[in-house]
Amino acid sequence: MAIFTRMQEFDYEQLVFCQDQASGLKAIICIHDTTLGPALGGVRMYPYASDEDALVDVLRLARGMTYKAAVSGLNLGGGKGVILGDPRAMKSETLFRTFGRFVESLNGRYITAEDVGTSLEDMTWINMETNYVTGTNPTKGGSGDPSPVTAKGVHIGIKACWKAQSGIDSLNGLTVAVQGLGHVGYYLCSYLHQEGARLIVTDVNEEAVRRVVNEFGAEAVSPDEIYGVSCDIFAPCALGAIINDKTIPQLKCAVVAGAANNQLAEARHGKVLMDKGIIYAPDYVINAGGLMNVYEELAGYNKERAFRRVESLFGTISSILETARKSKIPTSEAADFIAEERIRRIRQVQSVWVQPKISSAGR
Ligand code: NAD
Repeated sequence: MAIFTRMQEFDYEQLVFCQDQASGLKAIICIHDTTLGPALGGVRMYPYASDEDALVDVLRLARGMTYKAAVSGLNLGGGKGVILGDPRAMKSETLFRTFGRFVESLNGRYITAEDVGTSLEDMTWINMETNYVTGTNPTKGGSGDPSPVTAKGVHIGIKACWKAQSGIDSLNGLTVAVQGLGHVGYYLCSYLHQEGARLIVTDVNEEAVRRVVNEFGAEAVSPDEIYGVSCDIFAPCALGAIINDKTIPQLKCAVVAGAANNQLAEARHGKVLMDKGIIYAPDYVINAGGLMNVYEELAGYNKERAFRRVESLFGTISSILETARKSKIPTSEAADFIAEERIRRIRQVQSVWVQPKISSAGR
């Protein structure tokens, strides 16, 4: 791969390749953009088929974090880490402490966190070597499980979408179809139930379904049926790529708004939803509660403050929907546009305030 060509394509700032034979660490840290602040993004551990697959993944994920932070109004840049290896076989204190030392060497340009394949325990090991880690143990001032805050953000995002679609503030009496009843899906069902919404739910885990049926009086359907149920809102909280050519014709909802990452199988599916009159809450915006939660840790974690911060998602999502409506573009494009505009504006301010460094070389 022509690495500099790839970096130039989306203006990546820095790639750090981390290798240590003693611990077996092979990792890549990618810092996409630090215009708004330090690059914060989790570290993923995954048995990539090749070094190139790992590089492609970390580049894609780091850039996604830049957009998520920018559109959410956070003073954070975008970055991500990947550790190459099987999380079930290769984890050790040495491995994560070594990764922590690499993070420390970046002096706060990159702040790490939990992601797919990494856990709270791994963050504790990283924390032995660096303070540039978030999502650490609540007993040590960390923010712990972000899911309740993420779910609250999704609940607020659904309300913003419904208000834009119908002019109505409340979800009372509406039918919401929830796909995936794990960490986020369960809390989302609880918030929706409290507000008087009727729930139709699915999960491949029968125990998770039983719990939501018993606690919130939800109606259960099979995983294949969820796309075609008659509902006001469809909330995907399980997998990516579930909005695709096969599922869109089945949808009988007015809004798609849920926590799952990468919901659109391809970018063009945002336009297909728009053409069907379905409002789509861009996934990386509506699920930003998790990032807001760890952001709060930087100033000393306070749970109430984290819950207050996610309330801003109502305004953020409303203005994305309004931009999309006025410009006749898919909401996913409107979100990207707003994120890029914020970064561009702050860059301009910086160019005014930052004194140019005059090199003495060659004088
Ligand atoms: P989770 O693993 O706890 O829950 C996912 C649930 O989906 C599980 O119960 C699983 O059994 C179910 N599932 C898997 N395949 C399914 C299928 N085919 N049909 C129906 N259900 C299926 O994950 P989570 O933490 O609740 O996150 C859910 C989604 O939200 C993920 O895409 C995640 O990346 C995203 N997200 C989560 C957070 C967070 O704070 N946890 C933050 C941002 C984004």
